[in-house]
Amino acid sequence: MRRLCLKHLRVTLGFFLSLAAFSPIAGHVLPAHAEPPAKKLFGRVARPADVPPNPYGSYARGCVAGAQALPVTGPSWQVMRLSRNRNWGHPVLIDYLERLASDAAASGDWPGLLVGDLAQPRGGPMLSGHNSHQIGLDADVWLTPMPNRVLTEKEREDISAISMLRKGKMEVDPAIFTLAHAKLLARAASYPEVARIFINPGIKRALCDIQWTDRTWLRKIRPWGGHHYHFHVRLSCPPGATGCKNQSPPPPGDGCGKELDLWFQPPPPNAPKPKPKPELTLSSLPSECRAVLEAGGAVNVNAAVQGRRGDAAGISIGNVPSPRRRPVR
Ligand SMILES: [Zn+2]
Repeated sequence: MRRLCLKHLRVTLGFFLSLAAFSPIAGHVLPAHAEPPAKKLFGRVARPADVPPNPYGSYARGCVAGAQALPVTGPSWQVMRLSRNRNWGHPVLIDYLERLASDAAASGDWPGLLVGDLAQPRGGPMLSGHNSHQIGLDADVWLTPMPNRVLTEKEREDISAISMLRKGKMEVDPAIFTLAHAKLLARAASYPEVARIFINPGIKRALCDIQWTDRTWLRKIRPWGGHHYHFHVRLSCPPGATGCKNQSPPPPGDGCGKELDLWFQPPPPNAPKPKPKPELTLSSLPSECRAVLEAGGAVNVNAAVQGRRGDAAGISIGNVPSPRRRPVR
């Protein structure tokens, strides 16, 4: 009897282990080890999925259907680093950026926006750079004002953004970071669709130190590493987008107290190093992302998986240059 039980256990275990080696993708079962990283699929699609707009998943694990392009040159904005083909977003993001640009320019506080990365044409993980920016609701805006002329394509590749911080310190350089920058950030956070704006703790400190009559928008300004050349706007999921996952709201208050102070304290001794995150595969994204990827025949996922040994073969990628690595910031 005992021997029989052990045998039974071994057979059952073997069955479950063999199941674990496979992961389902929208009804198909593919060996997990055969799946290419999702960034190799999403990072090489040149055009959006021509279906109704919808963000699927969360900011760092998802994709976007029906993305629109922010025109590369507008009346009060210019898109930088055009070779990356990352000026795509959900229509609410495009609409927000255009309004922010025109409102800021009309106020006389800021001549226009230089816009960095939004998302790839179908969102998803990227071959280089960001963890988030995956569902078409995140955008980077430079803290450098737009010059009074249309930049050439080459200039948009070559011009560097300017850091707002004193060299080697987490405090703003008042010769560079001005009230105009602060007002732009206040304006950017003031729209109801904005969930968060990520900015360097040194810049958040400078914003906290200003005597604003209304401080409610400061709650949305979240201190984060880097982000002293640009700020990162994150919009809430648009109404009715049921497949889109919002982040929980920031804690109440302006975030100028203890929470901000922590960023200026030395890290605790023996603090564990953050572990590298596992590579996202298509089956680890919401199931709708497969349809988003395959819409219009842009990618044949099965062919991509079968051609894995030949470097993500089977992907029709169009003439898109691979995005270049972001400059060190
Ligand atoms: Zn960003």
